Amino acid sequence: MSDARVLLVTAPTEQEPMDGRGFHDVDPDAPHLRVTDLGATRGDGVFETIGVIDGHPQSLTPHLERLAASAAILDLPRPRLDVWYAAVQAVLAAVDPAPELSVKLVLTRGEEGARRCTGWVRAAPAPDMSDARTRGVAVLTLDRGYRADIAETAPWLLQGAKYTSYAVNMAALRHARRSGAEDVIFVSSDGAVLEGPTASVVLRLGDELITPGTDQSILPGTTQDRVFRCASQAGLSTRARRVQAHELTETDHIWLVSSVRLCAPVRSLDGRDLRMDRELTAQMLMWLQRTHD
Ligand code: PLP
Repeated sequence: MSDARVLLVTAPTEQEPMDGRGFHDVDPDAPHLRVTDLGATRGDGVFETIGVIDGHPQSLTPHLERLAASAAILDLPRPRLDVWYAAVQAVLAAVDPAPELSVKLVLTRGEEGARRCTGWVRAAPAPDMSDARTRGVAVLTLDRGYRADIAETAPWLLQGAKYTSYAVNMAALRHARRSGAEDVIFVSSDGAVLEGPTASVVLRLGDELITPGTDQSILPGTTQDRVFRCASQAGLSTRARRVQAHELTETDHIWLVSSVRLCAPVRSLDGRDLRMDRELTAQMLMWLQRTHD
């Protein structure tokens, strides 16, 4: 028996008629997707992963807003955010409590020819991230194969959307693991730092925390936004801008940040050992675990 809970969202967008609450509980161990679902056959959908700490979904509204922004980039119908909001609350009320959970929201274009989107919400215990948070991660920089302005020059590549076609991101992680590393920082073909396959990149240069700007064809990170608010409260200045790849070699303080991992310091980059900023990491982790917006 799975310790996950799953809700099918029957009215995920304004295209589907509203029925009751717009979602219902289903058996988490039973099949629910048809083999013709375009989410499965083409990776044609969008998703969100939300961290839940002590029952509180973190940054719920920003996640829902990003789901809507991703749907717009993919020309999907507008998600009913009130339905998704209520579905997240309902799945959290149903799942067995745990100190950390993860909730995944998926919206696909639906079955071939059906003109009806598919949606579901799944809550499950979060994977244990304590090692990455405390020991740090060994990271490899990898060429993403396009320029940092690709979102503007080729919008059909869907940069900036959190869409379900993550096969490239997963392949990059496997490549890193084959090379003895644990994670990846993508760099554009014109030398800009982008993001990780499942995380935003934050680095400290002096008393400033820096992250690649969202004009660099990357996903706007909800955790990065929270890390910056924490840093401001700690008296550090923060800036989103183009980050040149060589700047990664000029600092010992780099983090990968994302919803369920929260923040993981980079222990080594391309084989070079880094002195991690343990004090700031601990401060950020505590702040991220205690605040929910
Ligand atoms: N960038 C990418 C490509 C991601 O997949 C993710 C999260 O999965 C992030 C950044 C971090 O986003 P968030 O902090 O909202 O989880």
